[in-house]
Amino acid sequence: MLNLVLFGPPGAGKGTQSQKLIARYNLVHLSTGDLLRAQIARGTELGLKAKKLMDEGLLVPDEVVIGMIGSALQENEQAAGFIFDGFPRTVPQAESLDRLLAAHDTKVSCMVALEVKGDELVKRLLERGKTSGRPDDQDETKISRRVTVYNTETAQVAGYYATQNKFHALNGIGEIEDIFGQICAILDQHQPATPSGSQQAAQEVKA
Ligand code: ADP
Repeated sequence: MLNLVLFGPPGAGKGTQSQKLIARYNLVHLSTGDLLRAQIARGTELGLKAKKLMDEGLLVPDEVVIGMIGSALQENEQAAGFIFDGFPRTVPQAESLDRLLAAHDTKVSCMVALEVKGDELVKRLLERGKTSGRPDDQDETKISRRVTVYNTETAQVAGYYATQNKFHALNGIGEIEDIFGQICAILDQHQPATPSGSQQAAQEVKA
């Protein structure tokens, strides 16, 4: 299985790259932000509680997102692998992810961090806020708080994967296609691409 943790501050381009990666590698995309927004849209109790924190740019409690990821893994037993987007955001979340994946006989293959500086993030998120409908993208104070939360609480998750030799950093400023190519090059080190069974076909020809 190929399990990618796609990492980086809000606005780094994780969602954009995830869409391209799921198409190429046939992975299941698990974004805790999307899962939480789905709870809000359904008006669940969990969603109502999470909305208050999300609107303020604060993290929702670890156990909430860990529970959601645990359920999603169970619902996708047949997946070829996962992209974790926006998760883990704290070291306890990273430790829980290791435990959850171990229970499914798999593990994190690698983390790719998209690095983008604060002023560019604010610019991108305010632009996204014009169309995303997300309250947390429409207010510069809330955006700045999310970036601060990333720097104080989330950035240390990179160290967690660095000690496991799974950490790769990329410049998140540049052409979307170039950045995608660089992520694919990293993923292909972990799982060589086998487009449409070509390797098997080659073996059959040789035989
Ligand atoms: P962005 O990366 O642009 O901040 P997300 O959709 O990943 O957007 O997250 C939106 C909000 O959802 C976060 O600011 C936070 O309140 C909440 N959230 C998402 N994922 C997590 C997580 N793993 N742990 C805690 N809170 C989370």
